Amino acid sequence: MDFSGKVVLITGASSGIGAATAVYFAKLNATLALVGRNVANLNQVASDCETVGSIKPLILVADVTKEEDNERVIAEVVEKLGKLDVLVNNAGKGASGSIETTTMEQYDDIMRTNVRSVFQLTKLAVPHLIRSKGNVVNVSSVAGQRSFPNFLAYCVSKAAIDQFTRCTALELAPKQVRVNAVNPGVIVTNFHREAGMDEDTYKLYLKRCEETHALGRVGQGSEVAAAIAFLAGENTASFTTGVCLCVDGGKHAMCPR
Ligand code: NDP
Repeated sequence: MDFSGKVVLITGASSGIGAATAVYFAKLNATLALVGRNVANLNQVASDCETVGSIKPLILVADVTKEEDNERVIAEVVEKLGKLDVLVNNAGKGASGSIETTTMEQYDDIMRTNVRSVFQLTKLAVPHLIRSKGNVVNVSSVAGQRSFPNFLAYCVSKAAIDQFTRCTALELAPKQVRVNAVNPGVIVTNFHREAGMDEDTYKLYLKRCEETHALGRVGQGSEVAAAIAFLAGENTASFTTGVCLCVDGGKHAMCPR
């Protein structure tokens, strides 16, 4: 796989799966635009990318829940890097809560971050992707395909991303723009801590994941990154669109216990 001459925009590149994806694409010689809010983390990831690749990434500090930030992100990528070939919609967050406990504010926050931002960024990117015959990879979740109690807003948001992936894939296929998603299982990142899990609970949760994932372990960001690069690649996935690819150690196939 080689992304020489390709411009790849990754949201949520300052941590976890997005950071691992940035480094993965840097190794494949991509020209990168990295989006996040945490400047120090973005600088660190950009430096890691420069170490393994040869091109200095463009850093874009932006909050994907803000319309004006998303407009600036797409405009700056095209202005500074000349085009856009791949959009990786990865930025996202989780939150626990059921139909009885989730407030409307929490629901709106999850949908704004995980769904509305993806809709807007993709919409803004489409004219440029049509020009480059590029593609989109959305980072969904096994929670988009399977149902888990007490993570309601998040599950709903990722199911929306799966449907968004298939619908936009059909809409853009006549224009030779592909749209796919990856659906990770539990991946070791800051995600669960950011969602409010304390260290002890997180440790127990990871232990339990040995049973809930068929492969008997949780995943690493680099394993999701490899799947994202596969779907984004012209030589690997040129005839693949509308796919939601599980990268979850078989979690989606297991019976709930
Ligand atoms: P992390 O918490 O490690 O990373 C989340 C990333 O999203 C950070 O870079 C963060 O950037 C960014 N982000 C969050 N909100 C915003 C915002 N409003 N504006 C800009 N950037 C934002 O988690 P993961 O790497 O695990 O999560 C990445 C994706 O993977 C998410 O969509 C998540 O739903 C999905 N996923 C994760 C799984 C897991 O087990 N880890 C499983 C399945 C799916 P910053 O802090 O700089 O704002």
